[in-house]
Amino acid sequence: MIELSHIDKRFGENHVLKDISLTLAEGTVTGLVGPSGGGKSTLLRSVNLLEIPTSGAIRIGDIRLEFAPGRKVGWNEIQRLRRQTGMVFQNFQLFPHQTALGNVMEGLLTVLKQPEKVARARAMELLDKVGMAHKADAWPSTLSGGQQQRVAIARALAPSPRVLLCDEPTSALDPELAEEVVEVLSRLAREGTTMIMATHDLRLASRVADKVIFLDGGVVVESGPPKRIFSAPERERTKKFIASLT
Ligand code: ATP
Ligand code: MG
Repeated sequence: MIELSHIDKRFGENHVLKDISLTLAEGTVTGLVGPSGGGKSTLLRSVNLLEIPTSGAIRIGDIRLEFAPGRKVGWNEIQRLRRQTGMVFQNFQLFPHQTALGNVMEGLLTVLKQPEKVARARAMELLDKVGMAHKADAWPSTLSGGQQQRVAIARALAPSPRVLLCDEPTSALDPELAEEVVEVLSRLAREGTTMIMATHDLRLASRVADKVIFLDGGVVVESGPPKRIFSAPERERTKKFIASLT
């Protein structure tokens, strides 16, 4: 289980996340939707401590960290929690000087210190899962955006994180290439991968998410199954947002 309790995040005067509490069951997909600047990326980045919450607590499995102004969080604690997560970014962010296979093996070799043979087998298994085994030796620059993102997903999953965090995984892609990525994400969701996904793409959220959270101005305005949130939102702000997209 993943639990965020009373998460607050301030950037100076800018109060970006306001008392966010969420519980995510293992094997479920949570979609984060809402207007630009609403705090989706900051919330995702707080889960893997790319941003350190100003206050609140995060629990992933057995690891729980508390945050408070003036309380310094140790690097080891950050690493321990971060290793429970994998992250997929809008712009893929593959290592350009490594092949697809090298990208997926990297963390297994350097962070987990796996033997080369073990890491290679695991990386090939993941590349196969995302339909990229045939491009194992290709350089990122020779791959389409959709292919790069599929390699990035394999890389994020390689160390078996408890949760996969995806920040706008299809936003940089043409519809056809986005569809390849959506198919991979849907399959992972069906197989029980726990995910949190920020997206502007309501179609993606409808297809993949079990639960959608509408975030605006750093607060959870409402949450529920995608069907309900998108077709029968209760709050005025949610209605306006959905209407602005359709
Ligand atoms: P988008 O849909 O455009 O991706 P978002 O919902 O992901 O938006 P965030 O990127 O989380 O929104 O931004 C929320 C607020 O936090 C914005 O006001 C933004 O300017 C601010 N912010 C985000 N990162 C930082 C940072 N590193 N330093 C200062 N302010 C930041
Ligand atoms: Mg964002």
